[in-house]
Amino acid sequence: SNAQDFILAVEGLTVSFDGFKAVDDLSFYVDPQEIRVIIGPNGAGKTTVLDLICGKTRATDGSIKFRGRELTRMSEHAIVHAGVGRKFQNPSVFEDLTVFENLEISYPRGRSVFGALLFRRDKAVLDAVHETAATVFLSDHLDQPAGLLSHGQKQWLEIGMLLIQDPELLMLDEPVAGMSVAERRQTAELLRTITRQRSVIVIEHDMQFVEDIAHRVTVMHQGRMLAEGSLEHVKNDPRVVEVYLGH
Ligand code: ADP
Repeated sequence: SNAQDFILAVEGLTVSFDGFKAVDDLSFYVDPQEIRVIIGPNGAGKTTVLDLICGKTRATDGSIKFRGRELTRMSEHAIVHAGVGRKFQNPSVFEDLTVFENLEISYPRGRSVFGALLFRRDKAVLDAVHETAATVFLSDHLDQPAGLLSHGQKQWLEIGMLLIQDPELLMLDEPVAGMSVAERRQTAELLRTITRQRSVIVIEHDMQFVEDIAHRVTVMHQGRMLAEGSLEHVKNDPRVVEVYLGH
């Protein structure tokens, strides 16, 4: 397939911190509707890859094309605006606001205060809030302060706060950490729902969860790609086995 078919094309991506290459000549391609999982030992460079894609960290070299647009020189804000959402590991929701309000304030309405006032409780906003709440299993909790949700529900709410901005690519850092078995299962279902229309990149350590969700797995080690393909394929790669047994 040609470059335009990919939602994301990462090529030769490199970042050095004081001469140390945290990400070293990394290339990978994400398809529309794909769930890509990045695995690898601690310090492999996984988080830094997501930081580079969302513009939090600037690449030393290489390119990141999102739907053909080069992201490496765009601001973090412009990258969000282009359709890339990033969720960090710890949920950051507004604990004193209700689930409804958390979703409502996340709805994109431009940057003007007037816009925010005009569109407040607009039907489009209400519809989006209800639809998103249903997607993230929180329809019955709309009036609850977010601070009273379980850890897993807070993670889902934060995913909802990103979804309501309608990203085409969602990046999640260990989304099931601290979740119950039932919540993990629901999160796998959520990711399958999300990728009917979007692509997802997930950093994950829980191999059962990886098996449940991954279309393809990218294995990183010392900033480089060690292996790529189905979980079955990478699990049987002797270099992957060595890195995991050696740690
Ligand atoms: P992973 O997510 O796979 O555990 P990271 O991407 O967090 O790995 O880190 C990869 C390497 O880059 C680590 O050795 C880390 O210490 C280093 N690193 C990450 N960010 C910075 C930074 N801003 N400055 C210096 N070193 C960094």
